[in-house]
Amino acid sequence: HAKAAGRNTYALFGEHMDELLRKRRALENDLRSAVETRIQFETFYQPVFAANSGALCSLEALARWNHPTLGYISPDQFIPLAEEIGLISDIGAFVLEDACRTLAELPDISVAVNASTLELESPGYALRVLTALAKWQVSPARLEIEMTETATADDRGELERTISMLRAAGVSFAIDDFGTGYSSFSRVQKIEVDRIKIDKSFVDEMHRSDSRALVVAMIDMARAKGLKITAEGVETVEQRAALESLGCDDLQGFLLSRPLPRQAVVALVTGAKQTLNVASSGTA
Ligand code: C2E
Ligand code: MG
Ligand code: MG
Ligand code: MG
Repeated sequence: HAKAAGRNTYALFGEHMDELLRKRRALENDLRSAVETRIQFETFYQPVFAANSGALCSLEALARWNHPTLGYISPDQFIPLAEEIGLISDIGAFVLEDACRTLAELPDISVAVNASTLELESPGYALRVLTALAKWQVSPARLEIEMTETATADDRGELERTISMLRAAGVSFAIDDFGTGYSSFSRVQKIEVDRIKIDKSFVDEMHRSDSRALVVAMIDMARAKGLKITAEGVETVEQRAALESLGCDDLQGFLLSRPLPRQAVVALVTGAKQTLNVASSGTA
């Protein structure tokens, strides 16, 4: 009996795998043509606020893929796929270009872009960033690059060259989703960065004393190393108050603002109140 049941389960599993594989190939093809035509990609911007003054201080650029039949697909899904099939540099370049355009349009604000470890390890990346900034006549000091700590770099040398070249030009670096990698604390020891972004998962659990202690430890470490601190995924007023009293510099989360389409965020920053309705009904 057990054997027969096992075989049936296997057959079902096999069918399921075929189905998944078919869907994945279709999505791959769609992503390839989307990258060619470019028009299905948009960049949204999530405002980041100074904890003590409440002032809007920067924006994080976030990629969006508006698929013709599936609608908006999360970057958590298409970024890993783009990395696997070699399209991440193209998507990174779209977002970078859009970010520079936004920087040129909003002179008092800085913008952060996310970079995949694969991009940071590729030799052309630093030059591509500096070229885009020069094209839009934007100071490198207004750009921050966020990298996640999870991926272990195959070519550590190239990654470090990229970072030091860009930092020498004035670009700053942040470790994103801080605390979720297996080597968070050693990573800030090895790589020169300017900021850590405390992952949402710790912010979510801050009402528990053990999680709160972890956040305190991260903030202490960052302070000792002279790093700036942003908390991600702030959703409640209690979290905001706790993070502010612990000495977090900047706050980002749905409580303060969702990611917004480009025009909406430009309107928000430049104070064009009539378009704020568009901003609050934007999808993200
Ligand atoms: P991330 O860089 O950690 O970005 C923060 C994510 O958390 C964003 O998701 C944002 O919409 C979401 N978020 C912000 N505040 C809140 C909140 O209060 N509650 C909740 N539930 N979520 C919040 P998004 O835009 O879906 O992006 C997911 C991830 O995809 C990003 O995480 C980043 O790692 C990656 N990503 C996005 N755009 C790019 C890109 O242009 N290039 C690369 N390489 N990765 C990107
Ligand atoms: Mg990020
Ligand atoms: Mg993050
Ligand atoms: Mg993330």
